[in-house]
Amino acid sequence: MPRQELVGTDFSSYFTQPDKARAGYQQVFKEGSVRDYSLEIRHRDGHTIPVLYSAALYRDEAGKVVGIFAAARDITRRRQAEAALQEANDTLERHVAERTAELARSNEDLQQFAYVASHDLQEPLRMVNGFMKLLRDRYEAQLDDKAKEYIAFSVEGATRMSQLIVDLLAYSRVDRKGTALRPTDANTVLLGALGNLRGSAQEAGVTVTHDQLPTVNGDASQLAQVFQNLIGNAIKFRSPDRPCQVHVGAEQQGGRWVFSVRDNGIGISPQHAERIFVIFQRLHTRQQYPGTGIGLAICKKIVEHHGGRIWVESKPGEGSTFYFTLPAADRAALADQTE
Ligand code: ADP
Repeated sequence: MPRQELVGTDFSSYFTQPDKARAGYQQVFKEGSVRDYSLEIRHRDGHTIPVLYSAALYRDEAGKVVGIFAAARDITRRRQAEAALQEANDTLERHVAERTAELARSNEDLQQFAYVASHDLQEPLRMVNGFMKLLRDRYEAQLDDKAKEYIAFSVEGATRMSQLIVDLLAYSRVDRKGTALRPTDANTVLLGALGNLRGSAQEAGVTVTHDQLPTVNGDASQLAQVFQNLIGNAIKFRSPDRPCQVHVGAEQQGGRWVFSVRDNGIGISPQHAERIFVIFQRLHTRQQYPGTGIGLAICKKIVEHHGGRIWVESKPGEGSTFYFTLPAADRAALADQTE
């Protein structure tokens, strides 16, 4: 626009928001300067340009205002870049949301599959078991020792498979329950678990001690299962050389609690520290120690369901400490509960 056309016009009328432009101008007089004041200039042909307006008062030596120095920076490119970035961000977020939904769906499918499969497998297995037992009972007189031995192996195999299926069902149920996490006193949970283990603990002459435990955000019955499995293992894998001692501890680290279940048992060599948490993985034969290898897999699933982590540190021959983290109960929920 030629200079002569500009002179004498109201500067604020060149902006899409004249009031805001005027307010910016007044701010310069009031405060001495303004920085990056966002405005839009309207071009003659109607298109608009986003600008950042900066201005300062200009004074003479006596301090008298003699003018105003103003500059408007064209930020069209920056705005475009911001818009492109925003769009890229939105696309990314949409992709992540879609992917998460897909994963949740396939996870659900898998859970459903494990559940249905284990359910449906039980039935034919019961049949195998039933007929094998019939064969043994009705035809005992006609069977020689080898045949009886084979039948015994078959029954044993079917019984073990049945136990594996029961375990698989229990495992697949951990998430299916979908329980809400609420403030839970870990002392009460531990006492419940110890109550269930009383028989085997007494038989093995075990001493269990514990710290004062905190209140955490959790599902009481699932957490009891974790304590029960870990302490149950400490009893099962005790050393034949010394009385079995188990200690349950808890230590706060930021917004979470690190629980520990320490024993003085046979220990686990570090190379197996990860493997033992995988379903049906065990380090011993059934003849050495009973079990199917489900206990720690269930613990892992429960702890992760609570947003925590589980791991083991151990010295073979000296003992093991299983650690797991749980989020501390938030104060608001605690207050709700005590009201
Ligand atoms: P299970 O007890 O049925 O074998 P788990 O999943 O509970 O199944 O444990 C997996 C394996 O981890 C066990 O077979 C054992 O070898 C090892 N393990 C678990 N807890 C302990 C422990 N406290 N001390 C030594 N070994 C352990």
